[in-house]
Amino acid sequence: MVEDVPIIETAPVYSYTYDQILIEGWSRAGIQSYWRVPSWNIAFDVGALPWRFMDTDYWFISHAHLDHMVMLPILNARRWMMGRTPPKIIVPKEIVPAVEQLFAAWMTLDKGPQDCELIGVEPGDQIELDHTRFVSVHRTFHAVPSRGYLIWERRKKLKPEYQSLTGPRLKQLKESGVTLSEEVPFPLLAYTGDTHSEVFEANPDFYRAKILICEVTLCHPEHDRSKMRIHGHTHLEDLVELADRFQNERLILGHFTAKNSLKYLVQRVQELVPPALANRIVIWGLAEEKSVSIANK
Ligand SMILES: [Zn+2]
Ligand SMILES: [Zn+2]
Repeated sequence: MVEDVPIIETAPVYSYTYDQILIEGWSRAGIQSYWRVPSWNIAFDVGALPWRFMDTDYWFISHAHLDHMVMLPILNARRWMMGRTPPKIIVPKEIVPAVEQLFAAWMTLDKGPQDCELIGVEPGDQIELDHTRFVSVHRTFHAVPSRGYLIWERRKKLKPEYQSLTGPRLKQLKESGVTLSEEVPFPLLAYTGDTHSEVFEANPDFYRAKILICEVTLCHPEHDRSKMRIHGHTHLEDLVELADRFQNERLILGHFTAKNSLKYLVQRVQELVPPALANRIVIWGLAEEKSVSIANK
């Protein structure tokens, strides 16, 4: 008899579904951050490793702060132990040598392999996921080398010169061998990782992503925002200043400080954020066991 492999709960996971896209994860500053979109086979950051995240093949790491990357050796080891293929680990190019040293140290200590495909990336790079989706790599603004990621879907669109033609005429052209459509990439989901809010003006495509997962580490009015640039974090008031720019259908706010409650963040969103934006905001992990959206739906 073949026994099913049990699910073992190893870390908390919140989930949220928007337009049939399921997003799972957990994220608080200095504690742990990890996210995934199971249907696209991608994850962002590995500050902890829920058991069911193990099957994800593509891991996009925003930066090497411990709360975002400490479980990477466990991911490699667990995949090997459970007979999975080595994962693809995408990291800022600058940190590749140090990550290789980390793997070497763990192989010495653990006497087990650290098999993975380690891919260093720079802003402007592109990673192919499958024939319908790819990921672009972006500059972000943090205290250590860091990257943001944007998932695109390849969509076909009728070329402008053919858009006014009738169906029979289009059929005729198609049959004569004319290519009627062109590929138009559609921005599905952006993940900023830890960053100062300067990231948005530097990457205007982030404003267009259907879903934006961004960090809001702080929201207290007495916090000195001038220091945010040095540490590379975002204050809720930064988002308020850019409120008109966000075209995203949903903004998921993660990585909030453990020094304030999420209820306090809700209160500040209600006080500061214009309703047109607040209605699209999802505060990650608001209830104990599941994500609660303050968006209408
Ligand atoms: Zn962090
Ligand atoms: Zn960080």
